[in-house]
Amino acid sequence: MKNVIDIDAISDAVETTTPTGFARLGLGPAAMQAIATLGYENPTVVQERSIPILIQGRDAITQAPTGTGKTAAYGLPIVQMLDEREQKTQALVVVPTRELAIQVAAALDVLGKNRRMVTLPVYGGQAYGGQLRSLRTGVQVVVGTPGRLLDHLDRGTLILDCVRMVVLDEADEMLKMGFVEDIEKLLAALPEAHQTVLFSATMPPRIKNLAKQYLNNPEHITIAGGSAVGPDVKQVYYEVNWTDKPRALARILEFE
Ligand code: AMP
Repeated sequence: MKNVIDIDAISDAVETTTPTGFARLGLGPAAMQAIATLGYENPTVVQERSIPILIQGRDAITQAPTGTGKTAAYGLPIVQMLDEREQKTQALVVVPTRELAIQVAAALDVLGKNRRMVTLPVYGGQAYGGQLRSLRTGVQVVVGTPGRLLDHLDRGTLILDCVRMVVLDEADEMLKMGFVEDIEKLLAALPEAHQTVLFSATMPPRIKNLAKQYLNNPEHITIAGGSAVGPDVKQVYYEVNWTDKPRALARILEFE
């Protein structure tokens, strides 16, 4: 079992800013209601720096470690820009792994509940049937891995004509995994007018090149550290058979 992250360490790492609250970030009632439901009192640093830029529709390149609240940093602006009456895909979130696709889609589901935002995770290794049915009925936010997204695009089952915002999450990981061409094909299929947001824990030259090519006058946001994980996040992994994963996880949670 890889990357079993210490749960206590995660909550410590979500360092929030001084208690100014979310109110001055410019978020609307639906997003504010979602924040209240989640019990977030103050924005994390990445949220405070990114949300005001993203809700203006601007492109941004954000260097932020994992575990610093970046899902809500782009999730809340997605909730804000969503047109509830439009069933077509309006936001596309591209992530490196199926685990992240599931996790991000679940987080967006919670954030967008008040706007009845329909989110679908699509990733390789999952049967096409359910994905096809959902895509056909209309999904407002699609969260997926590059290969499977491209597959749906080629089959004509993923329509990107109405996408207004694309998020490349963990962009450095996607490049490391060799997804650069898939990402470029996805970006090329987007309508001319769209917002592009790139999140990356590190900023190697290839990420900078990607940003230079596909982002339009982006705001650069850097969250201190620049390491791959938040300063107080301890990452541990244990190797176990996959059938033992739930039991092993339960033991770790009990122990911690
Ligand atoms: P992420 O980096 O998006 O994976 O978020 C890491 C964890 O921080 C998740 O469990 C979030 O629910 C939590 N989180 C995100 N934003 C806040 C906030 N403003 N206040 C408290 N917890 C938060």
